[in-house]
Parts: sequence; structure tokens; C-alpha cells
Amino acid sequence: MQRSLRIPENHPRAESLRIRERLVECLRKGIVVEQGLIAHGRGEAFDYLLGERTTTYAREAIRASVAMMLLADHPVISVNGNVACLCAEDVVRLASLVNAKIEVNLFYRSYEREKAIEMLLKEHGANTVYGVGDRASMSIPELMSERRRVDRDGIYSADVVLVPLEDGDRTEALVRMGKKVIAVDLNPLSRTARSATITIVDNITRAMPLMVETARALRHEPRDRLNEMLRSFSNTRNLEASLSVIRLGVDGMYVEREGGGGSRQIGSE
Ligand code: ATP
Repeated sequence: MQRSLRIPENHPRAESLRIRERLVECLRKGIVVEQGLIAHGRGEAFDYLLGERTTTYAREAIRASVAMMLLADHPVISVNGNVACLCAEDVVRLASLVNAKIEVNLFYRSYEREKAIEMLLKEHGANTVYGVGDRASMSIPELMSERRRVDRDGIYSADVVLVPLEDGDRTEALVRMGKKVIAVDLNPLSRTARSATITIVDNITRAMPLMVETARALRHEPRDRLNEMLRSFSNTRNLEASLSVIRLGVDGMYVEREGGGGSRQIGSE
């Protein structure tokens, strides 16, 4: 059997390598599928361009997202294999802080995988996990993939859905159903990023703990204050700002290599 890699602490890509190791481990346990590793690779490329740090714009999007979840009547967090693997504990913590349900939703659906993800979430303290087996009896209209299947008491009746990793088709379909969609996507150009109500352009491994921290800080704020946070947020402006971090970061890297004084810190903390 293949053993996991020992990653030296001082390796410049230590965190990124640790995440890869975790995903491979989850692949062996049947939580993640091969295609999930490829999707992660696309995310990694954008994270590299962002400087592998949470930008001030992502923090703004996180605040608005938490405000939206706290204001919601029926918030739901949608969990796929990669999300369960990388952030099960924070999903459960966030759900409890904002009073959200947790639903398993998979593109490559199998009962065994649903159960493995449900078990992982329960190990981290989740009570009911929606969307498993026959519970996912409702369909999102106009969607053909397995991701169309949702739980009547979960995503189907939600007003706000947090989809930490999503595909564009389903984001668009959920928005057409009148739901507010919060996406976490490192690619500010994806259809998901463009069609979500709020997009957090950040790695889920950094964004989810920050969402938990923000929920702790905001949960007792008056509704007026939360509404004000939402009103002052523009997803289009926020996405453009994230894109400019990438653009200026790339220019900076290029200038540095040419011997100039470029910097990739713009918009970053
Ligand atoms: P779309 O259908 O929205 O245009 P896509 O086809 O590029 O997007 P998928 O292949 O469904 O997207 O999913 C991969 C997406 O998930 C990529 O956009 C990638 O940036 C994002 N992603 C992958 N891993 C992470 C992660 N750890 N954190 C945040 N985003 C991630």
C-alpha cells in the first residue's frame, strides 16, 4: 500500500502539499473521486496566482455571506467530496452557528460515497445530514446531472444555499429557482463565480475557518446591521477586484523577475 509523504515544515509549498495528501487519503477512503483531484488542481492554479492568501476582497465577501446566512430563514450548506475531505469540521461548526442544515450533494453520486461523507460529518458532530439515499427525492428543474437530486427538507426548500465548491450549471439553476447562492471558488472567471449571489474568491481551506470566526463575531448583531452589510456589498465589483489582484500579482511577479520592484501583495493581508 502507498504510504503518505512526509512534508518538511520549511518546504515553500508545505500547506499546498499537505492538502494534496489529505485529498489522496480521502480518495482511498471513497470520499473523494479522481475527478475531484483534477478540479482541485484547477483551483490550485488560481490560488497560486492569488498568492495563496486571503485577500481583503475575500474577507468582504465572507462578511456579506455570513450576514446573508444569519438573515436567512432556511440556510443550507451543500457538501461534496472535496468539501467534506478538507473542511468537515468547519462545515459542522458554521452550520451550528448560523443554524443551517447540511446536505450531501454529489456529481458522481453513489450510496456508499454519500454514506461515507455522512459518517465523516457525523464524526465531527453533525446531527442530521440531508440528501442521503432516498431523502434526495426532489429535482432541480432543467438539470441533467446527478447534482439535480436534492432533499425536500434541505436544498429544495432553502432560501440561501452555501455551495463551497459548485459547478456553473447548478449555480445558475439554483438562482433560477429564486435561491440566494453563496459560492467559494478560487476562479473569479468561472460561471459559478459569475452567477452566484455572493462569491468568495478564496481557498475553502482558508475561507471556511474564517466564515466560522466571522459567524461567531456577527451572530448577535442586530438584523439592521446585517442588512446594511449586505446592501453595501456588490458581487460584480468584488469579482473585478479579485481579478485585479491576480492581474497585478502576475505583473508584479514578471517585474520582479525582470529585476524591478513589483509586488503581489495588492489587496492581500
Ligand atoms: P464552472 O462550471 O463554474 O465554469 P468549472 O467547470 O471550472 O466551473 P468545476 O470543474 O466544476 O468548475 O470545479 C472546479 C472549480 O472549483 C474551479 O473553478 C476551481 O477554481 C474551484 N476549486 C477547486 N478547489 C478549490 C478549493 N480548494 N477552494 C476553492 N475553490 C476551489
